[in-house]
Amino acid sequence: MNIVASGFSRKITDALLAVLLAPSCAACEQPLDAPSRGPICIACWNAIVPITPPVCDACGDPLPSWRTISVACNRCPRCRRRARHVARGRAIGAYDGALRAIVHALKYGGRRSVAKPLAALLAQHGAELLRDASVVVPVPLHRSRRRARGFNQAAEIARHLPVPSAHMLRRVRATPSQTDLPAAQRHANVRDAFALRRGARVQDSVVVLVDDVSTTGATLDACARVLRAAGAREVHALTLARVVSRSP
Ligand SMILES: [Zn+2]
Ligand SMILES: [Zn+2]
Repeated sequence: MNIVASGFSRKITDALLAVLLAPSCAACEQPLDAPSRGPICIACWNAIVPITPPVCDACGDPLPSWRTISVACNRCPRCRRRARHVARGRAIGAYDGALRAIVHALKYGGRRSVAKPLAALLAQHGAELLRDASVVVPVPLHRSRRRARGFNQAAEIARHLPVPSAHMLRRVRATPSQTDLPAAQRHANVRDAFALRRGARVQDSVVVLVDDVSTTGATLDACARVLRAAGAREVHALTLARVVSRSP
């Protein structure tokens, strides 16, 4: 009876909110039918296209399905060319469409409440990596950027994951946004941008780095390098979205 009553009152609340405030979805800007369920409409959540297997075992990029059958090494060309400090990375989906719009609502629209459902989705997609993790570590923002945004979106996601999170890294250098740089310069841009926080203990631990979007993986790799140098046994990475390379 209570469930029916609460469902009923939620419907009334939503109807009132929809009429009085006429809020729109923070991703697609269509009117929200159920504003009490958060700032993103159900259609946008349902429109997320997840990355599905086969994926590169290292970075998590989708692989053409023939590769897992015909090539013993199930890694993408980029990961076969270049050794990385991040052992394995996974993401919910490509940085595209509905997922991109929802990430923007969190990051640029200041919709912090979106972090929790996004973290729940990420926990499903990264279950394999989280199972053995000792700790999740958000990629830090530089002080100046965090002040401007009011929060670190990576930390908001990390704290809703089912593994304890710890702020073990700090950004020692403000770097130009990676998105403004050509791929070739991104590794140089973030090299030495991160350091271990005083008192952080990572010796022998399995760390999962958390960030909103990975493009070339340069930022995650720079963070992983610091953690590995401090004695972390393995470093993995979970990101909400991934810029998927189109080359086969
Ligand atoms: Zn929407
Ligand atoms: Zn790869």
